[in-house]
Amino acid sequence: MQFVDLYAQYLSIKDEIDTAIADTIKHSSFVRGPSVEAFEENFAQLMDTKHCVSCANGTDAIYIAMKALGLETGDEVITTAHSWISTSETITQAGGKVVFCDTEPDYFTIDPAQIESKITDKTKGIIPVHLYGQSADMDAILAIAKKHNLWVIEDCAQAHLATYKGRKVGTMGDAATFSFYPGKNLGAMGDAGALITNRDDIAEFSALFARHGGKNNHLMEGINSRLDGMQAAILNVKIKYIEGWTRLRQQHAAVYSQRLSNVAAVTVPQIREACEHVFHLYVIRVDDRDGLRSRLSEQGIPTVINYPRPLPLYDAYQYLGGTSADYPVATQHANTILSIPMYAELTEAEILQVANAIASCK
Ligand SMILES: *Cc1c(COP(=O)(O)O)cnc(C)c1O
Repeated sequence: MQFVDLYAQYLSIKDEIDTAIADTIKHSSFVRGPSVEAFEENFAQLMDTKHCVSCANGTDAIYIAMKALGLETGDEVITTAHSWISTSETITQAGGKVVFCDTEPDYFTIDPAQIESKITDKTKGIIPVHLYGQSADMDAILAIAKKHNLWVIEDCAQAHLATYKGRKVGTMGDAATFSFYPGKNLGAMGDAGALITNRDDIAEFSALFARHGGKNNHLMEGINSRLDGMQAAILNVKIKYIEGWTRLRQQHAAVYSQRLSNVAAVTVPQIREACEHVFHLYVIRVDDRDGLRSRLSEQGIPTVINYPRPLPLYDAYQYLGGTSADYPVATQHANTILSIPMYAELTEAEILQVANAIASCK
């Protein structure tokens, strides 16, 4: 068994993918080109947003969005203690200061109740992450942002098509960023990313900035963060299947939760009321996490810890002086979380094998 089987997904749409790749080579449209333009349109349409600006990866998308929002040296940006480092490293790259906030006990996402105490007169924005495929508590976050005149960038790298009270994630903030890294819910066969926004100013700046600040006349210095034609052609095939794949992930998650919710040692992922979780990862909590992990490994069941420490406790952030006492929830989660196999092509037999193995090891 694999943790994620990307080859199984490829085989399910092999002919279409092979044709898309061959066509890209035939037309030599390797960087940007018609497939990229088509993907930007397709993705904007899927997300019900006005603009999609593609770029090289999901990390760049966050950086570009902050440049578009005019972040300046010394500005502070509040983000979650529990995420992949892209969310916070880009704040520093864009010239800002990272301010971490602890997470909610049940949902792994930034705790709105703690955001206001982190706001200073230098705070410019908030980056909530819809972690593991579930929306952060956007009503509360947007209310705080409005009250304090802050922008919001939604990091949707793990949450394609997740919803919050009927709204798609990525449509609620000033801008939203996506990753199409191969293992993400919508994944290319290499690096790829995009930002979406309804704001014309953000879209216009981002498209220029990501492509050297313009072509015939460079209006500014930018960066080189382009989507390549091959990845766009592949994504144009896969985007047709994302809704079905998402439903399969949700069905698999429901089977896991049904099987595991009465196992005393295990806490299954909670779904926020009136929201759709898209289960990029299915993350359980177990006190004896490391013991369970090695017993599963002995049975050939791979697991991953996403992520082993709260962001502020990595060496990279020692300079901020944070301790586990400052992030009690994220720390407790980091010590007990375990991601088990989750992808659309998992079979019922595999899901039951994993669930039974967990139930019998405890
Ligand atoms: C994957 C990911 C990113 C970055 O995406 P890349 O395409 O790998 O650069 C950003 N934020 C989160 C939460 C992610 O999971």
